[in-house]
Amino acid sequence: MSTAKNSPKETNPTNSSGAGEEGIRQYCTMREPAQRSFAPGVSLGRQRAIIVIDRKWVNGTTLHYAFFENQPRFAHLAATEAFKKVFRDGVKAWVDLGIGLKFEEVTSLSQAEMRIAFQKNDGHWSYIGRDVLNQGVDDATLNLDPTAGNFNWETAAHEIGHSMGLPHEHQNPKAGIMWNDEAVYAALAQPPNRWSRDTTFHNIIRKIDADTVQGSYWDKDSVMHYRFEAGMINAPQEYKTKPLVPAGGLSARDREWIRTFYPPLTPAMEPELPLLTTKAIDVPPGGQINVVLKPKTSRNYKIQTFGESDVVAVLFERTTGGDVYITADDDSGEDRNALIRQRLQQGRTYVLRIRLYHANDSGETAVMWW
Ligand SMILES: [Zn+2]
Repeated sequence: MSTAKNSPKETNPTNSSGAGEEGIRQYCTMREPAQRSFAPGVSLGRQRAIIVIDRKWVNGTTLHYAFFENQPRFAHLAATEAFKKVFRDGVKAWVDLGIGLKFEEVTSLSQAEMRIAFQKNDGHWSYIGRDVLNQGVDDATLNLDPTAGNFNWETAAHEIGHSMGLPHEHQNPKAGIMWNDEAVYAALAQPPNRWSRDTTFHNIIRKIDADTVQGSYWDKDSVMHYRFEAGMINAPQEYKTKPLVPAGGLSARDREWIRTFYPPLTPAMEPELPLLTTKAIDVPPGGQINVVLKPKTSRNYKIQTFGESDVVAVLFERTTGGDVYITADDDSGEDRNALIRQRLQQGRTYVLRIRLYHANDSGETAVMWW
């Protein structure tokens, strides 16, 4: 799908309720993503629009997940039925909201975008969004640590949130958190984290680019927010003397955001696009169009966008078993248009999904196939 730009891997034990648990917890270690570089002339606004979306999935994607079974070389990663239930409950929390992103359990690791491990003493972590595609087929993309605190569905939901492309809410620039930097560095230098100042900066103190919906205001109850002990935060002032404890589970904004970014898809949202006809990509940044293609002959086709825009275009074949990924093109940050060349078969149905990162002139970008 997209090329490997970076490999952020996150470890998280610890958000949310954790009633009765006290003291410094083991936090996420988000591997510092290699800074994505842009060609000269790519405006800051365009870069931001790309950065907040480029690891998220196009809506309508099915994320297949598989567990490691208890065969010798995977024994240390293997799932028990009880472990599987923890993960499935985390999936259910999101799926029950009726979103357009699908999850399907499969038995083969090689057929799964998400490979779920239960390695002990490795913390909870997940790669972020489409970055799971850049991992080896025998490698885990998400770990839930049965020996760590908060081994529960809420932590599973947090890690699945990362797999869907969600960042940490406590790094939202709109949070307005003013850290007691030295207290944070000192606390995280202690066990169980033992972090360097760099690691602490990148995982907690650094502000990230946030998208317009998710980043619109601070949601301290987000499932993507950590708990922080009293004294680690200078402002808001109340957290100088009391811990910041998220409410637990998915917050109202978590539910709103996921249904905005991955809305349920209806047939009306997937009109057929006749051959040689343009369809305007008339959505705001972050929005998506979906069209159905029904080729009348079997041959090689081109599917291309027009106008100055950054998009990711993904082609699926519609089958009785669901939509199957075929190919994609992502032209973000480049001065070219997304182009898919693909042999399509007469009598079959294809679905083209295009997520808009950014357009120079809204309403002046379109797609056509021929
Ligand atoms: Zn995390």
